Amino acid sequence: MVSKHNKPLTIAIDGFSSCGKSTLAKQIAKELGYIFVDSGAMYRAVTLYFLEHSIKIEDPVEVQDALEHIEIRFENQDGINTTFLNGKNVEAEIRSLAVSSLVSEVAALPAVRKKLVALQRLMKGREGLVMDGRDIGTVVFPDADVKIFITADPIVRAQRRYNELLAKKQNADLHEVISNLAHRDKIDTERKDSPLRQADDAWLLDNTHLTISEQFDAVLGKISEIIGK
Ligand code: C5P
Repeated sequence: MVSKHNKPLTIAIDGFSSCGKSTLAKQIAKELGYIFVDSGAMYRAVTLYFLEHSIKIEDPVEVQDALEHIEIRFENQDGINTTFLNGKNVEAEIRSLAVSSLVSEVAALPAVRKKLVALQRLMKGREGLVMDGRDIGTVVFPDADVKIFITADPIVRAQRRYNELLAKKQNADLHEVISNLAHRDKIDTERKDSPLRQADDAWLLDNTHLTISEQFDAVLGKISEIIGK
């Protein structure tokens, strides 16, 4: 799918934690033959590094030094988008509760955001791009062709994340998942640097009562409508 000006699209998908943004972004990217980037995975990889190296996040010098030793890249392995931190596959580790519990504090640090936003902008090449996160439509690509902001009932979101963790055979406690989501939503919306908010020109989608395929159809329809204008 290309825009009126014949260039591939940049599609920004933002929203609250565990709204299914990455699932949707992956489906859209596959359908359109675009690159998919899960920007949350990048914040998670930085957090994993900080945990493994006991980096004190309140020490700007230590944070900056650590950031200079972090290299993040994605690889498609058997059709699965896989995150690599300094050459190591960390896809499973970055989804652990230990990482989820600290990631929003790490993502609130301006030095971390500066590094990752620069990397994210470099990922926009000549091909179309679908990127999901919290600030993609507001900060990373304010000129994105399509902006979607996703929300859903917090309990439904927690249940989905809980089921996902169980399916991956990871330890999970529903109450812990509920409080982790509430904690991340609060920090993500209240931080000073690039808080989570709906861009003025983003399309709001509440997927509480939608199946994954209903959501996919609704979003594809919306993309065609926006591009057709
Ligand atoms: O998308 P995911 O839930 O994996 O993101 C993990 C965390 O990374 C979020 O809770 C948020 O704190 C941070 N994040 C961010 N900006 C993005 C993507 C994620 O601050 N663009």
